[in-house]
Amino acid sequence: MKILVLNCGSSSAKYQFINMEDESVLASGVIERIGIDGAFLTHEPADGEEVTIENDIPDHNVAIKMVIDALLDDDHGVITDMDEIGAVGHRVVHGGENFSESVVIDDEVYDAIDDVKHLAPLHNPPNLLGIEVSQELMPDTPDVAVFDTAFHQTMPEKSYMYAIPYELYEDYGIRRYGFHGTSHKFVAGKAAELLDKPIEDLKIITCHLGNGASMAAVDGGKVMDTSMGLTPLEGLVMGTRCGDLDPAIVPFIMEKEDLDPKEVDNLLNKKSGVAGLSGVSNDFRDIGAAAEEGNERAQIAIDVFCQRVKKYIGSYSAVLGGVDIVVFTAGIGENAIEIRSQILEGLEYLGIKVDEEKNDIRGEDQIITTDDSDTVAAVLPTNEELVIARDTKELVE
Ligand code: AMP
Repeated sequence: MKILVLNCGSSSAKYQFINMEDESVLASGVIERIGIDGAFLTHEPADGEEVTIENDIPDHNVAIKMVIDALLDDDHGVITDMDEIGAVGHRVVHGGENFSESVVIDDEVYDAIDDVKHLAPLHNPPNLLGIEVSQELMPDTPDVAVFDTAFHQTMPEKSYMYAIPYELYEDYGIRRYGFHGTSHKFVAGKAAELLDKPIEDLKIITCHLGNGASMAAVDGGKVMDTSMGLTPLEGLVMGTRCGDLDPAIVPFIMEKEDLDPKEVDNLLNKKSGVAGLSGVSNDFRDIGAAAEEGNERAQIAIDVFCQRVKKYIGSYSAVLGGVDIVVFTAGIGENAIEIRSQILEGLEYLGIKVDEEKNDIRGEDQIITTDDSDTVAAVLPTNEELVIARDTKELVE
């Protein structure tokens, strides 16, 4: 079976077309600037050159039609008939409390996703649009929703409740949901394989450190706590998001800077994090280079980022009552050698001793602690599209 994995944002759509017989990627691509001037599709077949197709792409309907055309194209396509698309797996950001697993999409599921769109107003509407268009263009092909929040639904109340009036939870669903669930699930599974132990016997801390960043405490395969909250703003310091903050800072800034709720939300989501701290960039490669040249604010941004991850490792090992393995994944986790070293420095008390030679790698499965460490730390590259494709295959079969 071949599966199309779709990740629809408001002005972009990413896709991968995966052959589930050997889990190889047959083609992948992205459409950018949907509904904006200068829209284009970049498509890359597995054994061919990347092509860029510029076009007027007014909406998601045209965008997804272009993806199907690219897959069918005589030159850079990878299939000859649309029927070869066995199923479509959709990334859906927020499933609220309705979904603890991936599901085949029917009218009831569609409505349930629609019901929680107020919890992810920027993400769920374009996800729903992707589902609608997919059903319109491929009415006989099953669609599956895979939620960013689902893996975290095992969290106990004591982890997901905020200490605000209980009615706010009842009335609006204000609680911790957590995100990046597909990634945390994938690398937790890989950690068990790496240690050659059943996941049921393991205490795992997963660190998904990318432009968006979150951590999860996983006990016996179940999430006990995670750093993102009602929205993906809480927790770690991110590229442009502030992460944990004294909530009193919000009304303070609003008053001092004369900002309305939308504007302060924008400031905390888009202008904060390591970008806001450093004034250099949201990209750790630029910040690292600036810090090396003596930029103090860049160094502060790196230090604050690492300190936050270290704090969460400490608190999650307390939540779990110990830890067997700490996993690093996503852009920074997989590639930023010095950042990993800095995070793990001083964690010998937890049984973690970094082997700097082993740590000198990017983007490969690798244990980075010494053989005599009681607790393992490892780099395990994530693959969210593969999780979506696997869940989709399992459900439609
Ligand atoms: P992601 O959101 O998972 O794609 O991660 C993107 C982020 O990974 C970028 O913004 C960079 O900060 C970081 N990154 C990627 N490659 C490197 C690298 N070689 N060294 C340091 N950071 C990197």
